[in-house]
Amino acid sequence: MNAKKQILDYVPHTEEESQAKQTILSQLEIYGRNLLERDCPGGAHFTCSGMILDEQMTHTLMVHHNIYQSFSWTGGHADGDDDFLAVAVREAKEETNVRIAEPISSRILSIDILPVKAHEKNGKAIAAHLHYNITYGLTVPKTMKIAPKPDENSAAAWIPIEKIAEVCKETHMIPIYKKVICRMKELRLAQETMLASCPELLLPWYRENARDLPWRKDKNPYHVWVSEVMLQQTRVEVVKEYYIRFLSQFPDVYALAAADDDTVHKAWEGLGYYSRARNMQKAAKELCRRYDGCFPADYDALRGLPGIGNYTAGAVCSICFGAPTPAVDGNVLRVFMRLTEGFHEIERDAVRLRVFASLQKLYPADNGDVCGTLTQAFMELGATVCIPNGKPHCTVCPLHTLCMSHKNGTAESLPVHKEKSPRKQVDVTVFVLTCGEYYAICRRPMYGLLAGMWELPNVEQALSAQEQLQQAKDWGCQPLSLEKSVSRTHIFTHLQWNMTGIYISCGKMSPIFEWKTQEELASSYAIPTAFQKILR
Ligand code: SF4
Repeated sequence: MNAKKQILDYVPHTEEESQAKQTILSQLEIYGRNLLERDCPGGAHFTCSGMILDEQMTHTLMVHHNIYQSFSWTGGHADGDDDFLAVAVREAKEETNVRIAEPISSRILSIDILPVKAHEKNGKAIAAHLHYNITYGLTVPKTMKIAPKPDENSAAAWIPIEKIAEVCKETHMIPIYKKVICRMKELRLAQETMLASCPELLLPWYRENARDLPWRKDKNPYHVWVSEVMLQQTRVEVVKEYYIRFLSQFPDVYALAAADDDTVHKAWEGLGYYSRARNMQKAAKELCRRYDGCFPADYDALRGLPGIGNYTAGAVCSICFGAPTPAVDGNVLRVFMRLTEGFHEIERDAVRLRVFASLQKLYPADNGDVCGTLTQAFMELGATVCIPNGKPHCTVCPLHTLCMSHKNGTAESLPVHKEKSPRKQVDVTVFVLTCGEYYAICRRPMYGLLAGMWELPNVEQALSAQEQLQQAKDWGCQPLSLEKSVSRTHIFTHLQWNMTGIYISCGKMSPIFEWKTQEELASSYAIPTAFQKILR
């Protein structure tokens, strides 16, 4: 039984806690899982609480409890569930109405036996009994909207830590609250101390294990920039080839700035997310105009360039200029959350900023070599050892002796992601219109999805065979025959195209389209992958 293991793993700090642990273990022997239910015959049962602090750990979020007539922490009955942490999080959210309540760790912070006086609930008399209470530390962003749960609480409020005794009428709880807050702060300190020890293990590991990648041959900011932009959303093995080809075509910032859009798009074809290529070209022009084609060695100046965000600026500044600027991407966030056993939603900007600030403390102000190597070492660890979507390779990890999630067995459930809203589904009818050896293409609008890219003519709706022919006619193509039809899907970040591709041979090359041979399409026109799926 999981509940028993969790209690066994708990290390008591005081004699009182030791006795509580023994009592609960002996009751578990007698009652087993019944102890998770509130009608357990022994007069005691499990409850789970959350001590909620803000990020700065100066305030605690409490609720004014109708039964106790006092401000107290959040919590509730296990009600059969032995995932105590999940119960504590659920109760914290329900009682304060916050969307986010992130455990500071999976560790139990306190086990206490708490008396509950006789009371009435929903018209039913409840006799005095005991709670075997399991407590976790949670953090909630202080900017989050809060509201009490009407049937249980009359208020929810952020209380300064030093004022807990003023609002808490249950005097026996005050030392417990203080104890748990103190343990949360100790845990935060332990996380920071552990992080501080990482570089001395990570740096030598990187020097021995770094992969030989084409963009690691020098510290030219243009090279690092191109590789970092390509590596966003794309695998290293795929990027290698593109990177070499791209540099031979656009060897420096000037060459990229001078190239026309279509040539850059063609070089990018197949990598997807074409806005990255467009922004690179805009940034190259800006670099030529404002900085004589050189990269400014300044984090904020780099972030001011099109398409360069905190991550790319951090990577270029630390790797090329030796600045103490971490590069926090998905890989690094994953490593960080596992190392510290952080349950924060990694998509939140506030979380990224906090991770940046924590990692920056590891970067020496006076050793540029270490700064660049540390950035690459964290990236390398995330890409090759602390991998996503499955079991990380902890046995070969240089940080496994420090890693908190490895120690607590939670690495595989981290990092925590924000719940995704389902992708919008869009039906699209895509036309392969041919006239002899020529294919019709047209340009997409200069804004929105695949802005400015070449595409096959299409309409965003499912059409019947008759409507398809009518559409081709309306475009002035004189459709002769509908030859075949295929179904394909293409997934973008926020939407999915459910495409029907239809092949129509035409009697006329309508002037509203450009008409190109297959050879011309292959050599000079970048056609996004979604349409390539139909063309192939
Ligand atoms: Fe990741 Fe495992 Fe290393 Fe921790 S020990 S950082 S979970 S690979």
